[in-house]
Amino acid sequence: MDSRGSPLAKGATRAWVGLGANLGQPQTALRQAVHALAALPGTQVLRTSSLYRSAPVDALGPDYLNAVAEIATTLSPHALLAALQTIEQAAGRERPYRNAPRTLDLDLLLYGTQHIATPDLTVPHPRMFERAFVLRPLAELAPQHVPAQALQAVQGQAMARCQGAGWADGFRVSGGKIGKKWLYRPSNKRK
Ligand code: ADP
Ligand code: MG
Repeated sequence: MDSRGSPLAKGATRAWVGLGANLGQPQTALRQAVHALAALPGTQVLRTSSLYRSAPVDALGPDYLNAVAEIATTLSPHALLAALQTIEQAAGRERPYRNAPRTLDLDLLLYGTQHIATPDLTVPHPRMFERAFVLRPLAELAPQHVPAQALQAVQGQAMARCQGAGWADGFRVSGGKIGKKWLYRPSNKRK
């Protein structure tokens, strides 16, 4: 799905959310997270990046799956952060120590062109420019926000693109068929 350039709902801001998981069923967690984002008040998921696999940075544990979602939202940056944390909690997120493996990590990467520096929220995300697993998917959706030098600086980090942007479109219910009610149809929300 691609709604690049389409006008946003009144009062909405375009924002980009980084998704990552390396415990449990990462792909299911990421899909569910996209659906949860689409269900937030005043929020649409406009596009998702390809799905990537990356080795943990500064940490041990299984490989991560990563992606970025582009959303349009009328939530404020802090309300959006709180919503992201609620979605993480619902996915069983625990924070036993820094850089611990996680069932779901949702980071607010960019909120329009705003710069925010508060104790609990920094935007652009303070570590995004060190991370290939953020920059490469983000560059698919918002190349204007990812300078070529930034991409070059992280090109040595191990990661692989494993699925195209459609990875979030269907939602598989615990090994069964893709249930119709779970189909990801953000166009329904636009009516
Ligand atoms: P990380 O994603 O860097 O591994 P965590 O997910 O554990 O770390 O987040 C740690 C804290 O980072 C959160 O409690 C949150 O308040 C803070 N934070 C600051 N800026 C952001 C942002 N842009 N997106 C998400 N969390 C942020
Ligand atoms: Mg985080």
